Amino acid sequence: MVSSTPQACNKNLHFVFIPLMAPGHILPMVDMAKLLARRNNVKVSIVTTPLNAPQFKASLDREVHQNSSQIQIVLIKFPNSESRIPQGCESLDTLPSMDLKVNFFLALSLLRKPIEDLIEQNILDPFPSCLIYDKNIPCVSEVATKFNVPRIIFDGTNCFNLLCNHNLYHSKVSENLCDDDYIVVPGLPHRIEMKRSQLPALFNPGTNQHLIDVREKIRENEKGAYGVVVNSFEELESEYVREYQRVTGSKVWCLGPVSLTNKDDVDKAQRGNNKFNHDDEIVNKYVKFLDSWPKGSVIYACLGSLNRVSPKQLIEIGLGLEVTKRPFIWVLRGAYRKDEMEKWLSENGFEERVKDRGILIKGWAPQILILSHSSIGAFLTHCGWNSTLEGICSGVPLITFPMFADQFYNEKLVVQVIEIGVRIGVENAVHFGDEHRFGDGVQVTREKVMDAVEKVMGEGEEEEKRRERAKEYGDLAKKAIEEGGSSYNNLSFLVENIINNHVSKV
Ligand code: UDP
Repeated sequence: MVSSTPQACNKNLHFVFIPLMAPGHILPMVDMAKLLARRNNVKVSIVTTPLNAPQFKASLDREVHQNSSQIQIVLIKFPNSESRIPQGCESLDTLPSMDLKVNFFLALSLLRKPIEDLIEQNILDPFPSCLIYDKNIPCVSEVATKFNVPRIIFDGTNCFNLLCNHNLYHSKVSENLCDDDYIVVPGLPHRIEMKRSQLPALFNPGTNQHLIDVREKIRENEKGAYGVVVNSFEELESEYVREYQRVTGSKVWCLGPVSLTNKDDVDKAQRGNNKFNHDDEIVNKYVKFLDSWPKGSVIYACLGSLNRVSPKQLIEIGLGLEVTKRPFIWVLRGAYRKDEMEKWLSENGFEERVKDRGILIKGWAPQILILSHSSIGAFLTHCGWNSTLEGICSGVPLITFPMFADQFYNEKLVVQVIEIGVRIGVENAVHFGDEHRFGDGVQVTREKVMDAVEKVMGEGEEEEKRRERAKEYGDLAKKAIEEGGSSYNNLSFLVENIINNHVSKV
């Protein structure tokens, strides 16, 4: 046990970020780390593994060069052999099979020792003032306790989601219900009704016992934390921020939308991009395509970084986009059962039919670059929180296609609370790793795609109002992160809190 306390003071604050290895978790934490490192006398280290670093290394190099930020990557080894995850795979999105999900959580629990070594061997220098870590890596709390460093949890969602989960968990209202039963989430400022089957896997009693234990550990872990940072902004969900703080007594800092830290086109184009489409020429092709269409006319469709939608469902989405007769960019990522999708594409003639008005991105899309283009008029999203917030920043209405985890909550926030989106009509969650149980299930037909597109892009008073609201939220998002904005100020409060914590210790 190390008895001494940190030597840092306000002259050499050192924040250590420990993200979960998955794009939807690394990207916002890296953005947040960059924002923090732009503050005076703040050093930031991002701890990750060798295969995860390339996706943000170039961006950090630019940050050091352009803003003289003190920000660095510190590498630890990913415990492949101990967790029986094949060499070459160090992130959730590259797992060869979802059956390895349990192994992945085991790997996360094995990160304690390598992180401790970084501190013990003074590789993290100066001594860390604070550890900011993904909530899915609860072993960091043991490191924090051992070295007496404050720990702050990064939650990849928002306060609406945190409050829903908190209230459902404590009220137990979802227990003993059938999948098709509806519940009203208790204690919320709005009346939010959900189908039991749409709730996150935490409320799904059928899941693997090991994963239930992991989730319980994550929940327990939240208790002793110094606070929580979220990628959200107060103007978006102020009642939920206040209420969550009230019911939990936790400090919550809304610091987002953090993706807006990427201001120039190079940062936007390269975000998260290590192995795919690195080519400037390809990115220019997308920009040229977008430049060629009028303002607000193009649909952007992307179902996240972990895209595991069945080929049949993807095909319906493609055919739905085709029947809209509108221009579109459709991201296929490394689709689940990719070969079947490739076969369909090569046999069906889809690409040839839509070639004058549609682009397919088979791989990593420069999402925030695309979304920031003025010709984008709607975003069909799986409602992962980063994508949802990036869509809100772009000021266009969203078409919501939630699949699992927090995504059905995000749909409610977008459609019902801030009223800038339209449901495409997904009724049931397909929990991460359960794709095989649902086979070829098609929940959304091409007609539903077309209807939803018309509702957000078509003519009419309601449609116009929705677009106006979307634009207003986009403007609020941009203001929040600028100097003097709510998220900018919250980051100042966070730094002050940590300075005061040091002062009281030295
Ligand atoms: N993303 C991207 N290009 C892609 C797919 C995803 O830039 O082709 C980014 C997207 O901008 C977002 C993140 O990856 O920041 C995905 O996070 P989200 O929470 O939306 O969903 P997840 O992939 O974790 O389900």
